[in-house]
Amino acid sequence: MKQKCDVLIIGQGIAGSCLAYFLLQQGIDVQIIASPTKPNASKIAGGLMQRVSGQYLALPKLVQDHFDEAVSFYESLNLDFNCSIIKPHITHRILDDSQVKIWEKKRQLENYAGLLGQHLQPITIENTTTHHGIDMYDTYSVNTSLLLTTLEDYFCQKTILHYDCVAETDLKLANDCVQIKDFEANYVIFCLGSSLTEWSLFNEFPIINSKGNIISIELDHPENRILQYDKWLIPITNNCYKFGSTYTIDPCITPTQSGYQDLISSLHFFGYQSFRPISIDSGHRCTFSDYKPSMGFLYNNPRIGIFSGFSSKGFITAPSLAKQWSLSFPNLPDPKMSINRFINH
Ligand SMILES: Cc1cc2nc3c(=O)[nH]c(=O)nc-3n(C[C@H](O)[C@H](O)[C@H](O)COP(=O)(O)OP(=O)(O)OC[C@H]3O[C@@H](n4cnc5c(N)ncnc54)[C@H](O)[C@@H]3O)c2cc1C
Repeated sequence: MKQKCDVLIIGQGIAGSCLAYFLLQQGIDVQIIASPTKPNASKIAGGLMQRVSGQYLALPKLVQDHFDEAVSFYESLNLDFNCSIIKPHITHRILDDSQVKIWEKKRQLENYAGLLGQHLQPITIENTTTHHGIDMYDTYSVNTSLLLTTLEDYFCQKTILHYDCVAETDLKLANDCVQIKDFEANYVIFCLGSSLTEWSLFNEFPIINSKGNIISIELDHPENRILQYDKWLIPITNNCYKFGSTYTIDPCITPTQSGYQDLISSLHFFGYQSFRPISIDSGHRCTFSDYKPSMGFLYNNPRIGIFSGFSSKGFITAPSLAKQWSLSFPNLPDPKMSINRFINH
């Protein structure tokens, strides 16, 4: 006898966790299956949240549309679970000469008000001035591992989280339901992150997985700001920081020596000499060809859904999109995000 539910979610990264959380809030009967061994980019991610991003100090619309909702979601978790999942930190942004010119123009624009510091300042690291840069405001760090384990415990307490690896052969479609392993659901939604490319069901969609290495370090000189150039240093707990990340196209998920060397050289470039590496991790970011997340049900299989493709901004976009979808479920809040945008009907 199969266990019935309305929505079966596969995967418990930031996407599956947020979707399950908000569907539960709407009173929808949800179950989750997540593999304990498949890659989980969310657990190792930096957790950097900024409105202004990239070398051109851009204000991407996708980020602005979802930023406030994400911050308020994490702040509500801080309160509900009495923990410190999100913390505000000023970002100290190192600028090269061409970026100083960009900043001089952008700091005067109305839509940058309150986001960019007005003064170029020396950046002091380990008591030595190594670079010049600016402050950036409305920036946060999310403790991604704490977030994921807090929600994992929450789902376990509700006995809706099941640890298992789902294969394509486990998926059985009937007229009025979809079956996977011990479950029979009205809908199944795949929140597989980069593992999506292993499924022939999603072969026709233009997905690129890019790899990032990231190191956790301890510093001799504590730093309460986020520091950023082409890489970022993010305070996580007491004296523990994440520094990342590299960017390559490499299907292998294990960290590489060249990735490690790249990160160490960048730490030296920032001005760090005394730090202790604790661990190195790597993960794949799953990106659709138009750099937008994808959600909704397959045009030829309306019981099979997807919530994926969050690229390098999953902690900013996934909570808000999950909340919006839960409010109109099963209909999509925004047809532009539909997975079927890639299909020529
Ligand atoms: C190095 C690095 C740094 C990053 N830093 C940031 C950052 O600072 N800020 C930011 O916003 N974003 C960042 N990102 C991007 C962010 O990590 C992703 O956008 C986000 O984690 C994607 O979440 P997801 O839930 O879609 O996938 P994942 O987190 O990868 O989750 C996939 C889930 O599916 C499960 N799964 C896979 N296959 C199966 C199967 N067959 N059966 C059952 N379960 C399965 C996995 O076990 C996992 O639970 C970073 C990414 C990387 C790689």
